[in-house]
Amino acid sequence: MTHRAAVISALVVLALLVGGRWVLAREPIEAIATEQGLGPPPEATVPSPSPPEPTPSAASSPTPTATAVSPKTPKPRSGIGPHDTRRLTGSRKVALTFDDGPHPVWTPKVLDLLRRTGVKATFCVVGTEVRAYPALVARMIREGHTLCNHTWHHELDLGTKPEPEIRANLEATNREIRKAVPGAKIAFFRHPGGRWTPAAVKVSRELGMTSLDWDVDPQDWKKPSADAIRTRVINQARPGSIVLLHDGGGDRNGTLAACPAMVEELKRKYGIVLLR
Ligand SMILES: [Zn+2]
Repeated sequence: MTHRAAVISALVVLALLVGGRWVLAREPIEAIATEQGLGPPPEATVPSPSPPEPTPSAASSPTPTATAVSPKTPKPRSGIGPHDTRRLTGSRKVALTFDDGPHPVWTPKVLDLLRRTGVKATFCVVGTEVRAYPALVARMIREGHTLCNHTWHHELDLGTKPEPEIRANLEATNREIRKAVPGAKIAFFRHPGGRWTPAAVKVSRELGMTSLDWDVDPQDWKKPSADAIRTRVINQARPGSIVLLHDGGGDRNGTLAACPAMVEELKRKYGIVLLR
């Protein structure tokens, strides 16, 4: 290599390094740290006209640079929730679940809406509310929806109690449901607040119920606007999502108003399936 060629090569490498650094400087802090630890940016190695002259950082690079920059891929979500609970539907289609009812005002409106849109859902019902409004539970079953035990009185700490107490609570709730609808199938159990414990999951399994977690939670119980609920659900949803909504426990105007457009969009993007 002539002196002139060597100078040109050095200048080219220098220019690429400086250029690379400028590119890096616009990246987020984490990206800079990662990339600097792994060697030069990809563009510094591609168009080099001179024989590859090892730079200090390239020499110490343990892995190919190409793997250092991964495009933003969504984090894969497991179909298994805490303590072996179920978090996804098992197919591409998503499922809707409504908790804390039945409620004399909101549940009929949710049922009307589901009937209008031709969608079936899962209702996680509370024993005391079932006792107060048994006809609504009968309507859920009559219209083809799935039932889920949501404890006797929405006890958030039930899972921390001794197993016999958990069992008595869940059995009392199932008894009340079957008083409303003799022979009703109760396929699922959902712990209030998602505060799953191994004991709660074990007892529900022994009673023939699958513990039903969720994958999408728009926090509709905090009463955000209908727009916020819809946007959160659509943004969080992915194939197989189980969506947590509420038909009881407070003013559900936001949830109701969010539903028509949200349900149509979920139908179009994924399809909606009934959990069984
Ligand atoms: Zn609840």
